[in-house]
Amino acid sequence: MSTGTGSKTAGKIFTVAVASGKGGTGKTTVAISMALCAETDVQLLDCDVEEPNAHILLKPSIQGNEHVSMPVPFLDEAKCTGCGKCSGICAFNAIVFLKKPLFLPDLCHSCGLCMKVCPGKAIMEKPRHIGILEIGAKGDVGFVSGCLDIGIASSPALIRAVRKQSKNAGLEIIDCPPGTACSFVTSVKDSDFVLLVTEPTRFGLHDMTLAIKVIKQLKLPFGVLVNKSISDDDCIGKYCSSEKIPLLMRIPDDRSIAEAYSRGVDLMEVKPELKDGFLKMIDAVRAIAEEDGGK
Ligand code: SF4
Ligand code: SF4
Repeated sequence: MSTGTGSKTAGKIFTVAVASGKGGTGKTTVAISMALCAETDVQLLDCDVEEPNAHILLKPSIQGNEHVSMPVPFLDEAKCTGCGKCSGICAFNAIVFLKKPLFLPDLCHSCGLCMKVCPGKAIMEKPRHIGILEIGAKGDVGFVSGCLDIGIASSPALIRAVRKQSKNAGLEIIDCPPGTACSFVTSVKDSDFVLLVTEPTRFGLHDMTLAIKVIKQLKLPFGVLVNKSISDDDCIGKYCSSEKIPLLMRIPDDRSIAEAYSRGVDLMEVKPELKDGFLKMIDAVRAIAEEDGGK
């Protein structure tokens, strides 16, 4: 049996980002299973804001919603002298300059620099609605999910809003968006550990190595969980062994798991015997993070 220290976390927050280089690896299933196994003092943050689906499996009761906006610039034409300083300073190409600036809110990162450099104080800000937070719980598991408005490209701003809902205590599990773009970086940043969920295929290996490159740049400790595992002797196992990456758990390739998922039934309900494996993995994750923090 596990020592179960992953199930009782008090005081300082411990954040595990559950990520994958590609979609469809089962990272949401893993994130939810970890949260359900931990039983107390745990919060699940669904940062996959373009396609949040943790609520489908977890089935939390939603206690509240919050609207999230980000400030974007707009022009007071009467004050603009057409100097062009604002478009020159924007690092995100969010200002097209044709005698006067034209702001492109989809590219704007709300850095506020254009306002600061404008000599005529011709730039002001207005809020732009980008999405909604849903806040609730399933038993002892706290739950926060972000849902980006259709047509909005600024997912990092909404992910930051989800992460601001952190309880700052206990175990926090982040269901990250797939891929390795800004939304992935915003989700894993400042976490204590990144758990990479992958499949034992060449595609899985390829996308996992891309995610590892980013995580190494962020200097975060990480490990791997193989989902749909058919054998210990696979390309992921060999890669982890050659690169000395901890392979923390394998979830077997089992038709009943896939069928349960398609019906919106969580893994712990269909395979409760995996609970001890999840608890052991949480313990291992903590041990690796503590060792890494001591370096
Ligand atoms: S706020 Fe920043 S990102 Fe947005 S338009 Fe101004 S300089 Fe560009
Ligand atoms: S910096 Fe101000 S005054 Fe100059 S072009 Fe931009 S908005 Fe107009």
